[in-house]
Amino acid sequence: MVGHVTAPAAALLDTLPGWATLIRADNPGPMTLDGTNTWVLRAPGAARAVVVDPGPDLAEHLVAIAAHGPIEAILITHGHPDHTDGVPRLTEMTGAPVLDFDGEFAAAGLRIRAVDTPGHTRDSVCYVVNDEAVLAGDTILGRGTTIVAWPDGSLSDYLTSLDTLRALGPMPVLPGHGPALADCAVAAAYYRAHREARLEQVRAAVAAGATDAMDVVHAVYADVDQALWPAAEATVRAQLAYLRDAAP
Ligand SMILES: [Zn+2]
Repeated sequence: MVGHVTAPAAALLDTLPGWATLIRADNPGPMTLDGTNTWVLRAPGAARAVVVDPGPDLAEHLVAIAAHGPIEAILITHGHPDHTDGVPRLTEMTGAPVLDFDGEFAAAGLRIRAVDTPGHTRDSVCYVVNDEAVLAGDTILGRGTTIVAWPDGSLSDYLTSLDTLRALGPMPVLPGHGPALADCAVAAAYYRAHREARLEQVRAAVAAGATDAMDVVHAVYADVDQALWPAAEATVRAQLAYLRDAAP
């Protein structure tokens, strides 16, 4: 699920790595941008592929993924339904297991490293492939900013995860929604600055007398499409919890 800013956080990536194929699901919407990105990974010449985020349970989408088989494993960036509803059917179609691992894993001729990045959700994980690019799920998106899905997500975790991603340096980002970005460090720095600016606005709204999350949404997100206010409210709740925890 995504936020409201529509500009990319970093320059778009010109050319995908040779081992990455993007299959975008036909589930566009205010919370999914132009649809959920399913990434199929396979080193040139490798016998089998790895799928990251099967996406929604849409037959046409799952058939398109399976056409890139054989598939040796399915990886998940986080449990939101627009990323995982298709898992049971894709497993049935391909026989591929869902893998949950710590550290590094070799598959599809690639080295895949799991990096815990809680914040958008508690279970969010990014995958660094061959130290060449990072699959970021909904932690960094191709356009706009993501929500912190409080209470499952946490803003302090999210800010720490952005620092983790920033430390990966200038590697491409293959996100869960929207186009690929050229530079993870630039995108993570932008996201952090955006979150801190919003936090300042929330602080100001509370100081001006806003007493509940919807008051804050009205004050801070007045310029945002109302279809996104429920998402904004979740992020505001995360920000209020963060400010409460930070209070002396
Ligand atoms: Zn999500």
